[in-house]
Amino acid sequence: MRTRGVLVVGDGPAGCAAAIAAARAGCEVTMVGSGRARPVPECASLAALGLLDWLAPELATEPQIWLDAPTQAGRAVDRGQLDGGLRAAAVRAGVDYRHMAAAGLRPAMVSGRVVGMTGGGLDVEDRWVIDASGVNGWLRRHLRLEEVIDSRPWWLQRGFGTRIAEQGDPSFNIASHGWLWRRATASGCIWTALSSMRGGAVNWPSGMQPTGRIWLEKRHWRHLRCASGAGYFVCGDAAGYLDPATGDGLRFALESGARAGGLAAAALRWSERASVASALYADWVLQTYRAGRAALVDIYERAGLQVR
Ligand SMILES: Cc1cc2nc3c(=O)[nH]c(=O)nc-3n(C[C@H](O)[C@H](O)[C@H](O)COP(=O)(O)OP(=O)(O)OC[C@H]3O[C@@H](n4cnc5c(N)ncnc54)[C@H](O)[C@@H]3O)c2cc1C
Repeated sequence: MRTRGVLVVGDGPAGCAAAIAAARAGCEVTMVGSGRARPVPECASLAALGLLDWLAPELATEPQIWLDAPTQAGRAVDRGQLDGGLRAAAVRAGVDYRHMAAAGLRPAMVSGRVVGMTGGGLDVEDRWVIDASGVNGWLRRHLRLEEVIDSRPWWLQRGFGTRIAEQGDPSFNIASHGWLWRRATASGCIWTALSSMRGGAVNWPSGMQPTGRIWLEKRHWRHLRCASGAGYFVCGDAAGYLDPATGDGLRFALESGARAGGLAAAALRWSERASVASALYADWVLQTYRAGRAALVDIYERAGLQVR
């Protein structure tokens, strides 16, 4: 049995941010993740870019991550490359990164408190656990944490496409059945589409067509009733998920991860402050989610797009 300060489950942006923040605060950190790296396109907002600059400034000069130059509307990224860069930054920060799926691993509990994980040959008994496992929610499923499903199902598609010049850039076309967002890159464009109908067709503007693979996902808006508890914090999509129209997924993942990592480190050092830190974090997650949801509902209602 190894004893360490912080265990992070999930190796996406939220998990890497949590691991880097906790390691910088002087904790011994283990991060467990699948190592999955999907080459999907996304747009990092200016706020997300600022956080990346703080967490891993060296990534700004890694050309394979970036699909275009910085603009006032953020920067297009290859998520597989970004995640790879963040994992490497976590290792450089001293994080013990284990490639493995935690699906078969269970949270280790002592007197109703999460203290680590157990099973699959990896028994780690830590004092604070951070769940950054994305929408599948490792702790939510094992601890049966209460989750609020907040919208109808949405069908999301994304990929690369040919470049067109006649629309503003980036462009966001919304209608009663869904929307199409598009942004020019150095070699074409990246796009994301949402539909309220299964198999809903994308309304391509004239002159544009998709190129290469299209990734399809079904998602709801959802959030945990409480994103922290005895011995744990939940961050990123595992804590709250809205759709990409917020343009805020990466920012929220990085910021909630960095906050959770810093707070876990503080809770290790000053255990008497842990319950206050935990309550403040859960409140911040909830308020952030609600603000994002209210903004989306406003946009969708004006477009006649039904949320429920
Ligand atoms: C179609 C679409 C388009 C989007 N576009 C944008 C955009 O343009 N801009 C933006 O800011 N956001 C966008 N987002 C949102 C953004 O992708 C997410 O908010 C962000 O990825 C959340 O990061 P995360 O680290 O919380 O979760 P994830 O990125 O899902 O990372 C979780 C990681 O944990 C690993 N993992 C999960 N469970 C386990 C387990 N049991 N064991 C081990 N490893 C595990 C996974 O393999 C994964 O690597 C988009 C989302 C979608 C669906």
